[in-house]
Amino acid sequence: MKTEYDHIVVGGGSAGCAVAARLAEQPGARVCVIEAGPSDADLRVKVPFGLVHLLGSDRRNWKRQTVPMAAAGERRVSVPRGRMLGGSGSINSMVWFRGTRADFDAWQVPGWDSDTVWAAFDAVEARMTPARLPHPHPLSEAFGAVFAANDPGAPPTPERQSAGVFHTNMRNGARWSAADGFLRPSGAEVLTGAEVDHVLFDGLRATGVALRDGRKILARGGVVLSAGSIESPMILMRSGIGPGADLRAAGIDVRLDAPGVGANLHDHPGFGLHFKGRGSGYGLTLAQLPAWAVAPLQWLALRSGRLSSNTVEAGAFYGLGDSDVPEIQTHFLPFLMGWQGRAIIWGAGYFADVCLCQPRSRGALRIGADRYAPLIDLNLFGDDRDLDMMVAAVARLRAVLDRADFGARRAPEAFPGRNITGDALRETIRTRAGTAYHPVGTVALGGPLGPTGAVKGVQNLWVADASVMPRITSANTNAPSMMIGWQIGGHVAAAATRKAA
Ligand SMILES: Cc1cc2nc3c(=O)[nH]c(=O)nc-3n(C[C@H](O)[C@H](O)[C@H](O)COP(=O)(O)OP(=O)(O)OC[C@H]3O[C@@H](n4cnc5c(N)ncnc54)[C@H](O)[C@@H]3O)c2cc1C
Repeated sequence: MKTEYDHIVVGGGSAGCAVAARLAEQPGARVCVIEAGPSDADLRVKVPFGLVHLLGSDRRNWKRQTVPMAAAGERRVSVPRGRMLGGSGSINSMVWFRGTRADFDAWQVPGWDSDTVWAAFDAVEARMTPARLPHPHPLSEAFGAVFAANDPGAPPTPERQSAGVFHTNMRNGARWSAADGFLRPSGAEVLTGAEVDHVLFDGLRATGVALRDGRKILARGGVVLSAGSIESPMILMRSGIGPGADLRAAGIDVRLDAPGVGANLHDHPGFGLHFKGRGSGYGLTLAQLPAWAVAPLQWLALRSGRLSSNTVEAGAFYGLGDSDVPEIQTHFLPFLMGWQGRAIIWGAGYFADVCLCQPRSRGALRIGADRYAPLIDLNLFGDDRDLDMMVAAVARLRAVLDRADFGARRAPEAFPGRNITGDALRETIRTRAGTAYHPVGTVALGGPLGPTGAVKGVQNLWVADASVMPRITSANTNAPSMMIGWQIGGHVAAAATRKAA
């Protein structure tokens, strides 16, 4: 390993891999990606169903948690984040959505309008080749068919266009992450097992990074933070860039008082209905044991079978009332999932959730006495209207599920139970809802960042990951994170070319 490069990218996740590819395109560029976690060389990463095991891994998941959140019943909720090459994109369900054009136009940041962003998605998709999940469960097909079948003559609405079996970033039945699509072909040098503590500066110019083990690595052209929505603001704050009073209280010298760092944290709140019944979806039953036993061979030989399921096989977007913009996203999983603390329980069934596409609640991420333990406050349901919409969305989802042609596989609602409605449902959602695992917004474009992703007030330092979204996209955030890496990587490369000229 060298100790000086042209550019350092901190974090080899969904965005960081795209940044590295863009930087390494420059002739002769020396680019180093520094990743805290291990490589992604593990069969559980490649096998789509392996994500169920990875979510329990201490080595490959940061396993963050929120602080107790007042409006959500003083509860902590889990904030899983991938900790290896590919980042959260190595433990995610690989569902592929750009978001809507209106999402990006609403950012109102120069260079991030929907036309520009759409062209960047085209470039990203040329490498990631998303496609319809090849072997969905019949329940997943039946769920999507509700939207097509009930109103065949109606004009296309957002929910009708995107309802059904999801597109995923898999290739040949295996996970195809940003590490596969961008990093490995790039030729960038990769350092794994190396956790960045803070950015090094000469005055206000970033010159490299210091690792937690004390090593220093320098970058002549600059540093790009792609450590994700939780860790990128933490690295900034440990480097003295953040809310001044918090930094001083944590014993950190203030380099730049930037109150926007860590602010604006938000995520898609999500609440799931669990259905359990004999002969229903995938699950652990005596009758299904033979199928589970042959599943590894089936995947290895044919790349099919239940292990080729990404779990989140299907879903839909819909508005409430007369709205024709997507307000709610449902993820449909043809699996029985536990609702009493354990992910896997005996029985068969399926699961469908409601997630708010555009939550109004905003929280914050702060640094405390332990500078490596982020204080994550999503402030779930801090705005009451989010809870109102969730209650209405569950009623709508139940009606959709009633119309699905599940045949003999239909199962009764085991949690929260069909009799739970109105105020009881509202209280259940408030005290049981989690998120879709899409935290964003903590180092926003137009806030601490200029439109190219450069940190305002210092030189040679950029942020490129999901944290830069001023407002969350209306669907899953992996594809947008890669697009952000691609775009900001391009800006950093262009700045380097200008300097060299
Ligand atoms: C369980 C789960 C399921 C999901 N399912 C989907 C889905 O199906 N579809 C979808 O679109 N989105 C999904 N998402 C969300 C999506 O994966 C993320 O939005 C996206 O991966 C974020 O990309 P990122 O580049 O911002 O961060 P990440 O991909 O998380 O990358 C950050 C990287 O930085 C590294 N890092 C952090 N701190 C340091 C440090 N100090 N030093 C060095 N390296 C560091 C991390 O280890 C990680 O590799 C899911 C997320 C999770 C957790």
